[in-house]
Amino acid sequence: MIGKRFLAISVALLALLTLPSLSWGEAKYVFFMIGDGMSTAQREAASLYLGSPTAMDSMAVRGTATTHCLDSSITDSAAAGTALATGRKTNSKVVSMDPSGTKPYETIAEKASKKGMKVGIVSSISLDSATPACFYAHQKNRKDYYDIAVQIPKSGFHYFAGGGFVRPRGLKGVRPDVVGIIERGGYRYVRSLEGFRALSKDDLPLVAVTPILTGGASMAFDIDRREGGPSLAELTAKGIELLDGPEGFFLMVEGGKIDWACHANDGATAVFDTLAFDQAVQVALEFQRTRPDTLVVVTGDHETGGMSLELAKKDRERFVSVIDRQRISYEAFDEITLSYRRSTAGKGSLEKLLPRIEKAFGISWQELSTVEKESIKKAFVESMKEPKDRTKGKDFSRLYGWHDPLSVSLTGIIGARGGISWTTFGHTGQPVPVTAEGEGQDLFSGSYDNTDIPKKILTAMGMEHRNR
Ligand SMILES: [Zn+2]
Repeated sequence: MIGKRFLAISVALLALLTLPSLSWGEAKYVFFMIGDGMSTAQREAASLYLGSPTAMDSMAVRGTATTHCLDSSITDSAAAGTALATGRKTNSKVVSMDPSGTKPYETIAEKASKKGMKVGIVSSISLDSATPACFYAHQKNRKDYYDIAVQIPKSGFHYFAGGGFVRPRGLKGVRPDVVGIIERGGYRYVRSLEGFRALSKDDLPLVAVTPILTGGASMAFDIDRREGGPSLAELTAKGIELLDGPEGFFLMVEGGKIDWACHANDGATAVFDTLAFDQAVQVALEFQRTRPDTLVVVTGDHETGGMSLELAKKDRERFVSVIDRQRISYEAFDEITLSYRRSTAGKGSLEKLLPRIEKAFGISWQELSTVEKESIKKAFVESMKEPKDRTKGKDFSRLYGWHDPLSVSLTGIIGARGGISWTTFGHTGQPVPVTAEGEGQDLFSGSYDNTDIPKKILTAMGMEHRNR
């Protein structure tokens, strides 16, 4: 009898206690920030370089998420992006659809848009690449870049900014230009820095592509960023300025080239791109401090390279000096090697290229060991051949992956000198850290599946019942 009454009172009390929490405490401004290929080592490397924790590693709550997808323990960015955008697992290469690529899965960004929130998609790589695509498009294969890009105007989202388009006129270059389709869809298209900086809320919806694009229509690596290219942080700040309003916003920001740098085992370039991403996180956190009803969530979609650090305190100086001495990315050095091969018809000498190597990577030939010199000589011979004429087979791909042999042999040697080592040129199945701060932050502690992350964000947004 008493037990029953007690239970009834408890239930009533519980209902009273939980009611208000449904009407207040909802995240109205949401930042979902994804470092592609970024796990613990990538984040640690950035902190080690700074000598203090990065903004993303100073956030209030930390958890861990799995990364595997439906058909593999090692995911690609499409299946991982689908998990993060929709809360559903799918197969590699599939963009926010079921594994057969027939049924679209609704994304968290689409849900936010439906609710009336403003939505922004920012990436340092092309806007039609897997991670950003997973938030606004539905496509069986991530490589159908054109079919993905033309879904931008259909999304109804408000702010797209970052890299350009990989196939603006389709695979064969004969389809109507993507930019025209976007403009006819009612979007403003901006390509100049002045145009970008002058944008106001009246210009929404819009697509802003950075004026300087490098390989794969991506923004330049931060280590190579020249005058005229806005940083990821600036794209994020602009997103806040344009999307801010009483209806709230959902802003996805991807640091896409951390992954690329790690694919090429280029430690210095990875550190600088991770720091550029961290500056974007800093911008979001500064906004959060003035608006408590903001949630900032930072994670990676998977790990790339099997990066590991010696992390011995006494070695920090060595690590920093190695990172600082490198002047350009592997991507920029690839261009130097390529133009040298072309100008010499593949008959140039390593001696002639040495000053460029020494300048780019901050090493002198004299300080290299015999083994290191031999591996550079061997790679140089391969790099002077046309790609189709290069040595085939397992040993070759184990040494260089699909990269320019000279670049990756140099990044490997340089990294090792700074205590950075790698196990692969591909992705790994490692879990990724998740950090969160702001409204609903406590949902993100503990260990969980990557598909739980968007569910937790929705819960924080008050769009699904709390089911902790
Ligand atoms: Zn990757």
